Amino acid sequence: MLTVEWDRERGWGQPHIKPFQNLSLHPASSALHYAVELFEGMKAFRGPDQRVRLFRPLMNMERMSRSAARASLPPFDQLQLLECIRQLVALDQDWVPHSDSASLYIRPTFIGTEPSLGVSRPGHALLFVILSPVGAYFASGPMGAVGLLAEPRYVRAWLGGVGDYKMGGNYAPTILVQDEAVRAGCQQALWLYGDDHQITEVGTMNIFLFWTDPQGDLELVTPPLNGIILPGVTRQSLLDLGRKWGEFKVSERSITMAELLRGLREKRVREVFGSGTACVVSPVSHILYQGKNYPIPTMENGPNLTKRFLKELTDIQYGRVPSDWVLPV
Ligand SMILES: *Cc1c(COP(=O)(O)O)cnc(C)c1O
Repeated sequence: MLTVEWDRERGWGQPHIKPFQNLSLHPASSALHYAVELFEGMKAFRGPDQRVRLFRPLMNMERMSRSAARASLPPFDQLQLLECIRQLVALDQDWVPHSDSASLYIRPTFIGTEPSLGVSRPGHALLFVILSPVGAYFASGPMGAVGLLAEPRYVRAWLGGVGDYKMGGNYAPTILVQDEAVRAGCQQALWLYGDDHQITEVGTMNIFLFWTDPQGDLELVTPPLNGIILPGVTRQSLLDLGRKWGEFKVSERSITMAELLRGLREKRVREVFGSGTACVVSPVSHILYQGKNYPIPTMENGPNLTKRFLKELTDIQYGRVPSDWVLPV
């Protein structure tokens, strides 16, 4: 693991790579009481050429910097942290699976370690990075479709809040909702927002709808980064790919449940899928909403676009096609 300590008087200390071990923290540490904490999620992939690559890692460093500023944690040098992570992964490269479906998950974490119960900007902080090999995300397989519980009583993020930052405090309250989704026969929660039940995210993934829009145009649409959406690296990559292909309209705009249900009634919906580092893309098979189960024909439609995104992105991540989105370790 990698650890780097910071304190107000001396600034950043030396980074250390050391054997995986427990942390020793003062029981009053601000991360433990007030969730002065943030994290990132990224992966290293081993290609058929045996080289190990990181996927768009600077996007994670940028997002982590934004989270740090919002969490009152100190700024850090993004390139220096990336270099530390590269060295950590290079040292542990035997842990990067020899597989075209598995990878090494990288979890940078940044916590306030101020040993005081005052709610104030921490004067001590710890940045650490841990690693773990991971296989397919969903038990149902790499492209198993998921059912979603859309329960408007629960709100993941709100305007003026911090849902667009990867701060630990955003995630604890979602576990109960996730359990409720499973009890209702679903796999994930579909997070709605506002009186008009805008579709925002699914579980810890961004959401995409591929359909014929009400004007009759083929469109890929995902909610905009308006403060309640986590700016996913995968989300951005799918938007970039879709725009590069130029075969359909690509939109970042709000979609409501009413629009989706009308699209379903009029048979205009082709595919609905989530996106994230863990799974790349995850097709949606049904949505349970206000006591009614709405089948989504994602799998019946191939799912052609979901599969194409999975192939294009994993080809890049595993270095099967050249791309400036990957950084060799
Ligand atoms: C991490 C995360 C995502 C996906 O982001 P990626 O960078 O694509 O992994 C989407 N939504 C939430 C709430 C997240 O925490």
